[in-house]
Amino acid sequence: MDAAESDARRPRLRVATTSLAGCFGCHMSLLDIDEHLFELAQLVDFDRSPLTDVKHCGPCDIGLIEGGVCNAENVHVLREFRRNCKILVAVGACAVNGGLPAQRNHFDLGVCLQQVYQCREGLAAPQIPDDPELPLLLDKVRPIHEVVRVDYFVPGCPPSGEALWKFLTDLIAGRTPRLPYDLLHYD
Ligand code: SF4
Repeated sequence: MDAAESDARRPRLRVATTSLAGCFGCHMSLLDIDEHLFELAQLVDFDRSPLTDVKHCGPCDIGLIEGGVCNAENVHVLREFRRNCKILVAVGACAVNGGLPAQRNHFDLGVCLQQVYQCREGLAAPQIPDDPELPLLLDKVRPIHEVVRVDYFVPGCPPSGEALWKFLTDLIAGRTPRLPYDLLHYD
C-alpha cells in the first residue's frame, strides 16, 4: 500500500481549537500553513473552533488551546476541552506560560479596573462593568497547565505556521511530535 492509499484509509481525526486569553495570533499562524490547509482538511474534521460554528467541544482526538486563563469562562471552556480531547496542546506563549497578558499579574486587579473604567479622563459614565453576563476576571492570568493536564506545549508568540504544520503532521501520523531546533522559538 502506498503512502497516499494509507492516508486515505486512516480514520479522520477530530480537532477542536479555542482562544482563551489569546489574541488570535496563534490561530492566524495556523492559517499561515497556507496550501497545507487543503491537506489538513483531508486529514481532520474540525469540531468547536473559531473557524467553525460549533458551540461546544464534543469528543475529539486533538484540542489546540491558544491563550492563558484570565477569567471564569476561560476555566469553563478549558475544562470542557480537557474532558473531551484525548490530546490537549498548549499552543503559544500565552497558553504555555501566561504570555504578555500575564504582565498584569504585577498589579492589583481592582486598581487595574479602576484605572481603565473609572479614572481615565473623558469617560462619559465611569463604572466598572458588573453585568452578570460578563465573566469575572481571575486575580492573576494563569498558564493552562495550572488548571488542567496538558499533553504537549508548542512555544512561540506565535509558533510559526511551519512549526505548527510539523507538529500537527507528526501528531496526526501517530508519531511523537518533535520540532527541529530551527522551528523552536519563544518570541
Ligand atoms: S502566544 Fe502570542 S500570538 Fe499566540 S495568543 Fe499569545 S500573544 Fe497572541
